Amino acid sequence: MTTIPRPKDWVMGINAYVPGKAATASGGPVAKLSSNENPLGQSAAARDAFAARAAGLDRYPDAAATALREAIAAPLGLDPARVIHGAGSDEVLNMAVGAYAGPGDEVIHVRYGFAMYEIATRRVGATPVVVPDKDYGTDVDAILAAVTDRTTLVFVANPNNPTGTYVARDEIARLHAGLRPDIMLVIDQAYAEYLAPEEDDGALELAKTADNVIVTRTFSKIYGLAGERIGWGYGPAAAIDAMHRIRGPFNVTTAGQSAAIAAVADTAFVEASRAHNDRWLAWLTAEIEALGNAGLRAVPSRGNFLLVLFEGRLSAEAAYHGLMDAGFIVRWLPGQGLGNGLRITIGTEDELRGLMAALRTLIDDAG
Ligand SMILES: *Cc1c(COP(=O)(O)O)cnc(C)c1O
Repeated sequence: MTTIPRPKDWVMGINAYVPGKAATASGGPVAKLSSNENPLGQSAAARDAFAARAAGLDRYPDAAATALREAIAAPLGLDPARVIHGAGSDEVLNMAVGAYAGPGDEVIHVRYGFAMYEIATRRVGATPVVVPDKDYGTDVDAILAAVTDRTTLVFVANPNNPTGTYVARDEIARLHAGLRPDIMLVIDQAYAEYLAPEEDDGALELAKTADNVIVTRTFSKIYGLAGERIGWGYGPAAAIDAMHRIRGPFNVTTAGQSAAIAAVADTAFVEASRAHNDRWLAWLTAEIEALGNAGLRAVPSRGNFLLVLFEGRLSAEAAYHGLMDAGFIVRWLPGQGLGNGLRITIGTEDELRGLMAALRTLIDDAG
């Protein structure tokens, strides 16, 4: 007989999230290209707004984050009452699953998807259903084929992390149209701001009108506020109401709310970040493609990172350790079935040129 408290089986079935490393084994100077953070930092106005809140640390934040929700909603033509704020979009993803899945329910996500989907699903005792990819990309037909009577929620990240692949508007529409209306479709747009306007996947438009679509966004990526944990979601009023019931009451800090409001207003910073990403993502992709004879392959990305596959003499594992020794931390994801790949965040020009020089040396040394 057990004599100590016993955690739930479904909790013990979770493999805890593994964050990107921030330091090399030697502790030397590093380029951290492992967590898809913004190499340009963040808006100076956001930093000032954050600092100005130092005098109010004794007060709870605005639990409703009213000003923040209004700042998010206005430029996108959203109803602020249907914007829900989270401690990062991670909390919004957890709230969506918490509201729509429990023991006995199935939640679908793609094989090479964001690690949080499986954790969020298991956390509530629901069952993750993993569907195969189409050359690392999201396969709408495979998702639709995986739906059963027990399916209550489907996760799609667009662009997807860690692959960077992107599903066009007509495919998102086809996925939505193919799902039963009682299945919640959660479209994670953590990287949406990196897309050109003509690449809009239509998810936010769907979330405005459909009863079964929730979109999530974050301030951690293009806005460069990952340290403050601010994300948001948009969906039908009934879903937002349900999610508020399980939201942490004071889940976004006062300084974080202020910083995010200033960040939304600084469109020039967002433009500069997008332009930097366009330029250096294209550069890195071309550099990797030029190493095709060494077995390197770039998965076409629309995020602020590139998944590089190692199919030649130099393995992803060896490259990961070699780059680490040279001061470049990237993400190796064997735990997600990507033992043959490294995900590299688009850093500064110096970081990326240095990384490519180190990678070429590793290839030469591997013979
Ligand atoms: C980075 C990321 C998030 C955002 O995480 P936060 O909790 O907002 O920092 C969400 N989804 C995907 C796919 C991501 O890559």
